[in-house]
Amino acid sequence: MEIDGFRGRLITADHSDYDTARAVWNGAVDRRPRLIARCSGTADVAAAVRFARAHDLEIAVRGGGHNVAGTAVCDDGIVISLSAMRAVGVDPADRTARVQGGALWGDVDHETQAHGLATTGGIVGHTGVAGLTLGGGIGFLMRGHGLTVDNLLAAEVVTAEGSILRASADDHPDLFWALRGGGGNFGVVTTFRFALHPVGPTVIAGPVFWAADDTTDVLRFYRDFAAEAPDELGTVVRLGTIPPLSVIPEELHWRPAIAVVCCYAGALEDGECAVRALRQLGRPLVDLIAPIPYVAFQGALDDTVLHGWHYYWKSTDLADLSDDTIAAIADHAFSGGSPRSYSAMFHMGGAVARVPRDATAYAGRDVAHNIVIDGVWLPDESGEHATAETAWARRFLQALRPHRADSVYVNFLDSDDDTSRVREAYGDHTYRRLADVKAKYDPDNAFHHNKNIRPR
Ligand SMILES: Cc1cc2nc3c(=O)[nH]c(=O)nc-3n(C[C@H](O)[C@H](O)[C@H](O)COP(=O)(O)OP(=O)(O)OC[C@H]3O[C@@H](n4cnc5c(N)ncnc54)[C@H](O)[C@@H]3O)c2cc1C
Repeated sequence: MEIDGFRGRLITADHSDYDTARAVWNGAVDRRPRLIARCSGTADVAAAVRFARAHDLEIAVRGGGHNVAGTAVCDDGIVISLSAMRAVGVDPADRTARVQGGALWGDVDHETQAHGLATTGGIVGHTGVAGLTLGGGIGFLMRGHGLTVDNLLAAEVVTAEGSILRASADDHPDLFWALRGGGGNFGVVTTFRFALHPVGPTVIAGPVFWAADDTTDVLRFYRDFAAEAPDELGTVVRLGTIPPLSVIPEELHWRPAIAVVCCYAGALEDGECAVRALRQLGRPLVDLIAPIPYVAFQGALDDTVLHGWHYYWKSTDLADLSDDTIAAIADHAFSGGSPRSYSAMFHMGGAVARVPRDATAYAGRDVAHNIVIDGVWLPDESGEHATAETAWARRFLQALRPHRADSVYVNFLDSDDDTSRVREAYGDHTYRRLADVKAKYDPDNAFHHNKNIRPR
């Protein structure tokens, strides 16, 4: 098979690396595309889109391959893969970075931190920049510097017609608005240009763990602690067993625990001060908060969520952490069967909430927390595990329903039973606006292997 004007690699089922190339982060996803077009640059992406349209092929677009729903790969059609397009170029003078559409956050942090700079990215280094950014982008730096999309200055986009556009505040502003939260619906982004900020290189960061039995007390304290936290302090609560990382004493591995993971991106003395009260709470099992290079901290969770394990997610935004919400979390967080299942709750607010709701397509500006419930089991574990962890995640979400906010983060939606929640992710007004932009840039819905916005 050949594609006119394509210089990258074309991988079909008869190639030895077909199975590696079609695998995504979630090992439960097992799809067999007819062709994987591993692009070497923007021209290849445009050629691949034109080829797919001319041959009426189902299209999947792959950035980092991390989306839990596995939308980066499709059955039978073509995967337009940007996994060989991972270059990151930093301009320290104007504090910007140009990032190719297949880069991972580890690539970005590595290059930007060489200049003492960073932008809001994901909390796991092997997450893709493209999918994360297009859905909004939440992470430890967001309370100080906004969502990833709030730092997006421009994007180079290959449209459904195969033409190449620049989207920014001045060029195709409707498209630029939609790209900032509307997901991969509007074209293939081959390059992102981000604003950077001085960060670290050393930050005060790390987790404090308490026994699972302390969950209610920890969360009640955390509710007030987080509400008063300075914008420089980003926190994520993790509920699950303690992962068997070498930095954690072995006798604590696999013990059910609640952790508050902190990252203070500001002066070290101020950071020590900002986390002091948290560290003094109750009797922690272990306190790993310390000065640490930001780039090392950003990679610290990488081995806790390995490629190839099987995952099933549920998520919702939370308006606040009322006593009832906390009770629902404490009742369900540790009732999953697998020691690898966990949930993570991101503290929002700060700079995220200061951007007007209609400035970008990201909907959850005014929520206090965002929780993702992650059922996890190993590939060789039986179907029973899949059923049990899936049921646990659904039960947990159900218990949170009375306490949830109106939005859900689109990047935390899974497949199948979450498809109907895309409208919920945006709310009616934003969804309609996105549907108008979709009708203009992709009227045939060629890019539908995603959290789909239907053209209006
Ligand atoms: C372990 C883990 C940790 C995570 N942590 C965070 C976090 O801290 N913060 C956060 O915000 N999210 C987080 N996420 C969610 C993450 O944002 C999504 O999984 C996101 O889709 C990952 O992007 P990707 O490029 O790897 O996705 P892929 O699986 O490659 O793609 C997903 C979809 O994005 C679109 N897409 C991908 N690349 C492009 C492109 N170049 N142009 C146009 N569309 C494209 C396509 O529609 C595709 O179907 C995490 C996910 C995982 C698995």
